[in-house]
Amino acid sequence: MDRIYDLAIIGAGPAGISMAVEARYADIPAEGIIIFEKGSQHSWAIRVHYAPDKLVTENYKGYDVVPEGALGIKTLTKDESIAYLERAVSEYGIQINYSEAASSIKKVAGGAFEIRTERGVYIAGNCAIAIGILEKPNKPDYPLPRSLKPRIHHDIQSHILNDSDFLVVGGGDTAFERAAQLCGEGKNVTLSNRGSNFHRMCDENRQALQELERAGKVIVQRDSNIAKVENASGKPRVTFAEDEFGTKIFDHLIYCLGGSTPVEFLKSAGIEINKDMPVMGDGYETNVPGLFLLGDLSAGLKGGSVNWAFNSSHAAIRRITDKIISRIIETAEPRVNSDLSNHPE
Ligand SMILES: Cc1cc2nc3c(=O)[nH]c(=O)nc-3n(C[C@H](O)[C@H](O)[C@H](O)COP(=O)(O)OP(=O)(O)OC[C@H]3O[C@@H](n4cnc5c(N)ncnc54)[C@H](O)[C@@H]3O)c2cc1C
Repeated sequence: MDRIYDLAIIGAGPAGISMAVEARYADIPAEGIIIFEKGSQHSWAIRVHYAPDKLVTENYKGYDVVPEGALGIKTLTKDESIAYLERAVSEYGIQINYSEAASSIKKVAGGAFEIRTERGVYIAGNCAIAIGILEKPNKPDYPLPRSLKPRIHHDIQSHILNDSDFLVVGGGDTAFERAAQLCGEGKNVTLSNRGSNFHRMCDENRQALQELERAGKVIVQRDSNIAKVENASGKPRVTFAEDEFGTKIFDHLIYCLGGSTPVEFLKSAGIEINKDMPVMGDGYETNVPGLFLLGDLSAGLKGGSVNWAFNSSHAAIRRITDKIISRIIETAEPRVNSDLSNHPE
């Protein structure tokens, strides 16, 4: 441990990177900021979970989030979004320790934070957790045979594209994007959604899905519930609860059921959790003073977006600077205005 950082940030996605940029705007020197990133590159979740030709929409899930801070995007391609974040990292001289996951965060004597990684122990005055929710994808409530692990996924890895029959499960934008990507690859795609309408999808995706369906490129099973998944000679055999959908065998199942807050990790840092969600105050500060949650972790059940992540960092840095200013005011010596004190009664 060489130095005490002003700010440690866990995770180098849109939230973590924008927090570092906001800190630079608030005159925190680059040497005072450190980011720990589990992946070997920043924006790891975007690189892994977004389809190659995906458009990163500014109003994801239909939420119109107007950028309030230093960073903000209009609709960009995946590569442009990564390049935008890359530029922010290099222009602001942000130090990212790659392939270094944070394993624990705790408050130590003097009010600072001790961050442990597999490579060392670091101390920082403030700490922001920006690890997103994609590390912990939601799972279905029926059992999945272990033996089918190579056939059950949450994203599309290139090796599975050698096969042809895919079932995508989910009703949100991610489900649409996975289905559209597979259609683009000329695969047989079935999309199973528990609901009858795709109200969690943005309008553009809902329309695009209807077009794919009309063109016969995707079979859309509305109001379909999976009753069980079994191993049929190494492939998933899916039995739907509804007779009309029956039982079908696929090469691969792709679950797009969203992600969840890494509650245990947050609890271990002393963060209060209420009904599986972290409790936050102004600027997404938790009950542990100086410990912030950003990006998807700050967005609650409605889920986050890139611009949301940027705005959460702006709010957090405002909270940090407000606290510094009020501490300076509280501890300042009362000033004696010599002109006034000498003024005759
Ligand atoms: C398929 C898909 C499509 C989407 N499309 C859009 C869109 O079009 N427009 C839009 O605005 N939003 C979109 N989103 C949402 C958007 O990607 C997220 O809201 C945004 O990435 C959240 O940023 P974040 O920094 O909070 O988390 P993430 O982007 O998830 O980044 C978290 C980072 O933390 C790292 N990390 C995790 N654990 C640790 C650890 N213990 N230590 C260190 N590092 C760690 C991860 O490797 C990752 O780099 C989409 C999401 C998905 C899944």
